[in-house]
Amino acid sequence: MERPEVIRKTAHDLRVPPNLSDYDAECRAFSWDVARQALQGLPGGGLNIGFEAVDRHAAGALRDHVALRFVARNAPALDLSYGELARQTNRFANVLKGLGVVKGDRLFVLAGRIPELYVAVLGALKNGTVVTPMFSAFGPEPIATRINIGAGQVLVTTDRLYQRKVKQLRAKMPTLRHVLLVAEEGGTTNEPDTHDLATLMRAASDQFSTVATDPEDSALLHFTSGTTGTPKGAIHVHGAVVTHHATGRYALDLHPDDRYWCTADPGWVTGTSYGIIAPLLHGVTSLIDREEFDAERWYGLLESERISVWYTAPTAIRMLMKSGAELARQHSYPALRFVASVGEPLNPEAVWWGKEVLGLPIHDNWWQTETGGIMIANTPALAIKPGSMGRPLPGIEACIVEHLEAEGEPPRVRVVERPDVEGELALKAGWPSMFRGYLNNEARFRKCFAGEWYLTGDLARVDADGYYWFVGRTDDVIKSAGHLIGPFEVESALMEHPAVAEAGVIGKPDPVAGEVVKAFVSLKDGFKPDEVLRLDILGHARKRLGAAVAPKEIAFLPVLPRTRSGKIMRRLLKARELGLPEGDTSTLEGGA
Ligand code: AMP
Repeated sequence: MERPEVIRKTAHDLRVPPNLSDYDAECRAFSWDVARQALQGLPGGGLNIGFEAVDRHAAGALRDHVALRFVARNAPALDLSYGELARQTNRFANVLKGLGVVKGDRLFVLAGRIPELYVAVLGALKNGTVVTPMFSAFGPEPIATRINIGAGQVLVTTDRLYQRKVKQLRAKMPTLRHVLLVAEEGGTTNEPDTHDLATLMRAASDQFSTVATDPEDSALLHFTSGTTGTPKGAIHVHGAVVTHHATGRYALDLHPDDRYWCTADPGWVTGTSYGIIAPLLHGVTSLIDREEFDAERWYGLLESERISVWYTAPTAIRMLMKSGAELARQHSYPALRFVASVGEPLNPEAVWWGKEVLGLPIHDNWWQTETGGIMIANTPALAIKPGSMGRPLPGIEACIVEHLEAEGEPPRVRVVERPDVEGELALKAGWPSMFRGYLNNEARFRKCFAGEWYLTGDLARVDADGYYWFVGRTDDVIKSAGHLIGPFEVESALMEHPAVAEAGVIGKPDPVAGEVVKAFVSLKDGFKPDEVLRLDILGHARKRLGAAVAPKEIAFLPVLPRTRSGKIMRRLLKARELGLPEGDTSTLEGGA
């Protein structure tokens, strides 16, 4: 069947009047000052994400409304009302206070989607403590690297994760003063040099007055990966809550009676901004599934939990597509009215799949760790052009720029006025959730800006109707199953294997995960490139990095292509892997 290039919305598609009904008028009328007025603020002009997300509702009509609903395969569902969440986050804030953890100190969280994680994140924010959620599938190395870069003072994790991933490197994390453990099997924990969180929580008061944070005070530190060097810690402030609220309204179209499900893990930025904060800001009920992906389970949850707004990711959608439409059709989704996706390119096929199988097209949207919130989106009332990320949200000015010099510093760019020209996607600096810096890396931060434009590192084009189309990245970072992976971090771990002389890592296209990590290694003298060694190196990488980051494939090469200045040419490794033209190899050591 021939599919049209545009999906226009009918009243039936919309089901409820959308928050953003007249895109042009709203863009013209929008101001961030007005957007902020939807929030309460603290006495004296302060702003605090935790307060806006929880306490504001707990003190009002939503006190008994379910805020977070946790479901798991072998346990009864757990509902936390806004009132209960306020009390628990108060207790946690008092636990921190009791330990001498103050405003500006940094707390890391490493856990699956357990209630304690959500309580810790929100309670810490209320205490003015800066929060970094980490992905629980990380191995010991990425965990220690991040805690050390962030000079983390507190870690909240489970007894099992601590034993498997943290304990061995604890001595190498000198800033870590307090480790708070959750017993995975219940009961209490008794690890040396740690605290049992449940015991501390029981002893703490459930009354707490939110610490007076200023909109410009740091709130969240999210790590992201670049092409070179260690991961970068993007600093976000409490004022970001204005963007979280506005985007929850426009891009996720949250209405007060929604039952919302964000499938992202809080270890990644989507799982924090839209898995914890934005739904609570809107006072909706947010579902948290503690289990890993399972197509049948997911369809079942969409139906039985009467999810109305669903925020997921292309890899998950592709996995659902793979499991076949029959499975989807065993359930019905009368409550579902809006489906959105983020994190990687969403193929047009997937947009149509949504329409055919769920009865609703999937709305792609775009943002990144540095932007702190959704910037470009397919909003409910706008027609969808499958394959496009949509249009900039009200308050966001986007454009395509071309660089005037290849490697200039500071960068100089020119805005491309003509439609359909590929260039770097740029955003006019100044929206509330824009990152305020990379921790301890001012030079890298400055390189992201050309005058008033923030340079995203993504290549895109904009069409004559103002729709943005993703083209690719300007750098070598890898997006696998929606997770950004820095090749340098993987290469460094590989190089620690006794047999590895050099390593180069690329993203290899994959029909489900978008990309998978593939490594090329050359060996030190005396080692033979055989299957036993390959498996040993793979095992080493998985142990160090964790399954989410480690390479899925390793190939041996006698030597790796390097530039004359000694940098591994990942671009060339990738071109060779894919059988593509090798491009400019003039800087290749020893010629092409
Ligand atoms: P992260 O900082 O981990 O959230 O990754 C951000 C990057 O993911 C962006 O810079 C893009 O390269 C990619 N990305 C996010 N959303 C989309 C999308 N809708 N389409 C294509 N790429 C996306």
